[in-house]
Formats: sequence, structure tokens, C-alpha cells
Amino acid sequence: MAKVMIVGAGGVGSVVAHKCAALEDFTEILLASRTVAKCDQIAAHIGSTKVKTAALDAFQVSDTVQLLRDFGADLLINVALPYQDLVLMDACLEAGVDYLDTANYEPPDVAKFEYSWQWAYQDQFKEAGLMALLGCGFDPGVTGIFTAYALKHHFDEIHYLDIVDCNAGSHGQAFATNFNPEINIREITQKGRYYEDGVWQEIDPLSVHRDINYPHIGDRPSYLLYHEELESLVKNIPTLKRARFWMTFSEAYITHLRVLEAVGMTRIDEVEYQGQKIVPLQFLKAVLPEPASLAENYSGQTSIGCYIKGVKDGQTKTYYIYNNCDHAACFAEVGSQAISYTTGVPAALGGLMMVQGKWKQAGVFNVEEMDPDPFLEKLGSLGLPWHEVINGPFPFDD
Ligand code: NDP
Repeated sequence: MAKVMIVGAGGVGSVVAHKCAALEDFTEILLASRTVAKCDQIAAHIGSTKVKTAALDAFQVSDTVQLLRDFGADLLINVALPYQDLVLMDACLEAGVDYLDTANYEPPDVAKFEYSWQWAYQDQFKEAGLMALLGCGFDPGVTGIFTAYALKHHFDEIHYLDIVDCNAGSHGQAFATNFNPEINIREITQKGRYYEDGVWQEIDPLSVHRDINYPHIGDRPSYLLYHEELESLVKNIPTLKRARFWMTFSEAYITHLRVLEAVGMTRIDEVEYQGQKIVPLQFLKAVLPEPASLAENYSGQTSIGCYIKGVKDGQTKTYYIYNNCDHAACFAEVGSQAISYTTGVPAALGGLMMVQGKWKQAGVFNVEEMDPDPFLEKLGSLGLPWHEVINGPFPFDD
């Protein structure tokens, strides 16, 4: 029996709130965000007396601490923006509350994706007897848990990992992002990076792509990107010789993005506009559709999985583990699209693992350090069934 405070009432926050409300272990839920009207709207959609709402600017650490104490929270699930990770970790330490998030900290003025800032909290969380679980969405999140499951049950050593992420859905908009536009565009326009033979290789943004075949979808052009789970997986699975991440984009999406970049609309530094300083990417966010608003007319599926190659009992083995998720089915269930859903379900389930004590240790952890079994036993029944292909094709041998 536990009380959870969810921070952030966007596309992902809505799914986390719906799923936590449906789980018996969470007896009370406080949904807190900058715009309280969005929290109220989500609470009304859920229609449960378990869900309360509050206004909160997470940058005001003392306000978060007060709210956590007044509510008596056992756990804080952070599904606001990566900029708020550190202030919310500070608040958890002060209030004595466990912490979970789905994206690593980013400084607002530079698009830098690394765990260093959050890993630096290790000693403080350990000494306080509290847990911080980092990156418990789908990717990062389930992709790390899939890899940990592969290592536990199928391999003595993992050598090659290719994480593949396809959104084959259609929302009918000329250009929109599936999660927070600012965060999404920062991620895609940075240089690509992958790990090979002990070194990180860097490539120009979106300069390497190939067709990858996704189950029940078919071939889709997929681009090599840097994605944050690569950093923790390379650290936690030291036998890895190569680790990469691929994501699909349509030609229309790439064309829009290139034009926006070329005209300066994806810049994250301040520019002067009519006597005021604005950040072009923040302005762009204001005119793009909200990710949550795409849900109603979204059709098609997402497919995210891990291709793995390594050794078991002296033999080379290949393994593919994945989930497909249908946008319209997510909308019918909780009123959300599949990107929010595939992020929100693992966050709620990770929180459940923590409050049930199945994943409970003092310190700062990435998900692949946890036992994957209890999580994957429950993931399907919460809406994200997963599948395995053992010794099937491994399309990354070149
Ligand atoms: P949205 O932009 O839809 O929602 C973000 C929410 O955070 C909004 O409700 C926003 O408030 C709130 N917020 C922003 N700043 C503050 C603040 N200072 N204090 C309190 N609340 C604040 O984003 P998404 O729901 O799409 O994404 C949420 C998170 O999930 C992001 O960190 C994203 O990176 C992560 N993510 C992770 C994935 C994974 O698989 N691991 C995949 C997709 C997303 P307001 O409404 O006022 O703007």
C-alpha cells in the first residue's frame, strides 16, 4: 500500500496516472504539474477518488518537499521534463522519498545526454537509504530490461546489441513530434553516436540509415542515433563489443526537420525578438501540436525491440525480443497515443516494483541492474505484451 506523487501532466503523465490508479498497491495518487488544469483534466478522465491534483513548479524545491511531506508520498515518479530531474532528486532526498524517471538530466542550454549528473547522486541516495531508478520508460527502460532478461536467461556473454525503434503510425499532421517537441528535436539533431570495440564513434546527425524489418510492419528506413541507454548498458554489460540504436523517420519528417534546422528554428540559444529574448526551439514547440493531442486520430503500430548476439555454452546465439503497440488501442484504453503509452506503462510498473520491494535498494540505479523477471512477468498484463525470436535472423552482421 503506497502513495505516489506523479510530476508532469503531459502525454506520459496521463498514462502513468491512469495505470497507477488501476493498480491496487497505489492507494493514493497526487498528480502535480505546472499547469494544474491539465492535472484536473486527467483526473476527471480517470474518474477515481484515489487521484488528487496540485499545482507545482518543480524548480521550486521547497514547494516539492512541502507537497511530498503533506501528501506523505512513498515514491515520486518524474514524467515532467529532463531539465527537472536534478531538482526533483534534491526534493526526494530532503523529503525522504524514493525517485523514478524516464529520461536523463539535460542542461537547458546545451543538448548533452549523459548520466553523469544523476550518477553523482549515488552516495547521497545510498546514505539516505533511498532509491533512485533512472530511465524506466520504454527506451530507455524496457530496452534495458529486455537486455538484462536476455543475459539472465539466454546468454553467457552478450557481444552485439542493436536496439530498434519503429513508429509506423500515422497521425495525419504534416509535422509533429510524439513526445515533448523540444526534447525530441534536441535528441535527433545532435550527432549520432555508437559504441564499438571500446570506443564511442561519432557520426553526423541522421547520416547513417538502413532498412530494418519490423514484425507485422515490414521494412522501414531506420537511422542511427545516440540514445541514452547505450551509456548505461555499455557500463553494466562490459562484454559488449558493439551497441547501437536505430529509429525510424519518414521522409516527410526528415525534410521538415532539415528545413527547420536550416532556417534556425531548432536553435537552443537565445535570440532577440521585438525587444525580448526567445529560444527558437521553445517558440517552435509552442506552435507544434501537443503530443497528447495526436492520440485521437492516430492509427498504426509501434515496434521496439533488441537484437542481440552473443555466446551461450560455447555456441554463437542470436535473440530478438520486442513489443508491438497499437495507437488506436491505447486511445481506446486510456485516451493516449502509443509513444506516451509505451513510456507510461513501464514507469508505473517500475514504481510498482519499487513499492512492492521487488526492486528496492539504496542508491542510484539504471533498470538493467534490477531483476528483469518480476517486471516482465507483469508487463504483458499491463498492456505491453512482448515476444522472443531465438536463433532467428540477425540483420546486423555487416
Ligand atoms: P509533455 O511535454 O507532454 O509533458 C511534460 C509535462 O511536464 C507537462 O505537463 C509540463 O507542464 C510539465 N512540466 C514542465 N516543466 C515543469 C516544471 N518546471 N514543473 C512541473 N511540471 C513541469 O512531455 P511528455 O509527456 O511527452 O514526456 C514526458 C517525459 O517523458 C519527458 O521527460 C520525455 O523525455 C520522457 N519520455 C521518455 C521516453 C522513454 O521511452 N524513456 C519516451 C517519451 C518521453 P505544462 O503542461 O505546464 O507544460
